[in-house]
Amino acid sequence: MDQRPLLDAYRDTQQRMLGLMDFLSSLQDLSALDVNRPDLEGLLAQSLQALLENQGMERSSVFLVRNGMLENAAGMDWADLMAGRQAGSAPRASGDTCLRVGEGIMGLAVATGRIQRCEDISTDERFARLQEGPPPTGSLICLPIHAGDAVLGVLNVSHPEPGFFDVTRERLLRLFVALLAQVIAHWRHVHQMEATIRARTRDLQRALEQAQEMRERYEALAVVDDLTGLHNRRFFFPEAQAALSRATRYSEPFSILTLDLDHFKRVNDMHGHAVGDRVLQDVAAALRAMLREGDILARFGGEEFVFALPETGPQGAMRLAERVRERLSAMTWDVGAAGTLQVTASMGVAALSPDEESSSSQVLLDRLLAQADKALYISKDGGRDRATMEDPA
Ligand code: GH3
Ligand code: MG
Ligand code: MG
Repeated sequence: MDQRPLLDAYRDTQQRMLGLMDFLSSLQDLSALDVNRPDLEGLLAQSLQALLENQGMERSSVFLVRNGMLENAAGMDWADLMAGRQAGSAPRASGDTCLRVGEGIMGLAVATGRIQRCEDISTDERFARLQEGPPPTGSLICLPIHAGDAVLGVLNVSHPEPGFFDVTRERLLRLFVALLAQVIAHWRHVHQMEATIRARTRDLQRALEQAQEMRERYEALAVVDDLTGLHNRRFFFPEAQAALSRATRYSEPFSILTLDLDHFKRVNDMHGHAVGDRVLQDVAAALRAMLREGDILARFGGEEFVFALPETGPQGAMRLAERVRERLSAMTWDVGAAGTLQVTASMGVAALSPDEESSSSQVLLDRLLAQADKALYISKDGGRDRATMEDPA
C-alpha cells in the first residue's frame, strides 16, 4: 500500500500545528506588552515585532485614524527586524505617511470596517502606493482595528507570495487584531487617566495658589487684630496721619498716648497663655470703652496699645492716662487657686507743639510716636504703673 498520501497529510497537519503554535506565541507576546510605556508608537512597534517574529510575514504596519486621516503609527519589515536585532537596535517605527480614510485598500478597510484582502498587489486597482520605487508584488491583507463601534485604524500585513492569506491565516490575524485593539484601547485608557489626573492636579494646584493669594490679599487688607478686635497698625497709620494733618492745618491740639502692660510675660509664665489672651482682650475692651469720638486706638503688637487723640492737648492726654490707670486697677481676673490677678500699665504721652514747623504728617507722627515711647520707658524706669509726658526740651 502506498503510504505517501498518509505521510503528506501527516506532514501538512504537523506544519499547521507548528503555525498555530507560532501564532499563539504572537498572541502571548502581545498580551505581555507593557501598556504603561509612554509612547503608543513604541507599543505598536513591539506588537508588530511579536507578529513578524512568529509568523514569517514579510511586512506589517499600523495606521491610526487621527482627525479623519490615516497616519502611519508603526511599520516593520521582517528584514529590518532581523537587521535591527543583529545590530542590537530597537525596532523601527515610522510615522510620517498619511492617507485619507477611504483612500486605497487600507482606507477602504477603515471606511467599511471590513477586512480587505488583496491577492496580488501588482494587479489590484485598490492599492494606493505610498512610496516611490519598483512596484510592490505579493499579497496584502488589511484588518480594521475595532474598538466598540469605532474603527481606531488598520493593521496591514503583506507577504511576497500572491494569495498567501488563506482563510486560516485570515482567521488567525483576526484574533491578533482583536487583541491589538484591546492593547491600544487599554493604552489610551491608562494614558487618558494619567492626563486626567495631571489636569486635576494642575487645577488643584491652581486653586491652592489662588486661595493662598486671596489669603495674602486679605491679610494685606485686614486692619483688625484677631485677638482683641481692635484696629492694627495698618489701620492706625493712615488714620492718625489724616487726623494729624487736620490738626496742623487748623492749629488744633493733637496727642499720642502709648501704653505697655507691665511685666506681662509673668502673666503668661504664671497663669498660661490663655489667661494672658483673656487679659489682653479685656484690657482692649476697657480701652475701647474710653474712646471719644475721633480718637483712634490700635493694638500695636503684643501688649502694646496706642491712642491718637485729636483735639486733645498734653494735659488731656495725661488725664486719659490717669483714667486708664484707675480703670486697670479696678480690673481683676479670677485665676483659680492662685487667687486673683491684676495688671498695671506704663504709659507715655507726646503732644503736638503749637509752634510746630510744617513737616509731613508722616514725619510728624513718627516723631510723636518716638517721643511717646521714650516717655513710656521713663515710666518703666520710674517703677511702672504710671504715665509720663515727654519733655520737648
Ligand atoms: P515690661 O514691664 O518691661 O513691659 O515687661 P513685659 O514682660 O511686659 O515685657 P516683654 O516685652 O518682655 O514681654 C511682653 C510679653 O507679652 C511677651 C509675651 O509673652 C506677651 N505677649 C505678647 N503678645 C501676646 C499675646 O497675643 N497673647 C499673650 N497671651 N501674650 C502675649
Ligand atoms: Mg512690650
Ligand atoms: Mg510689657
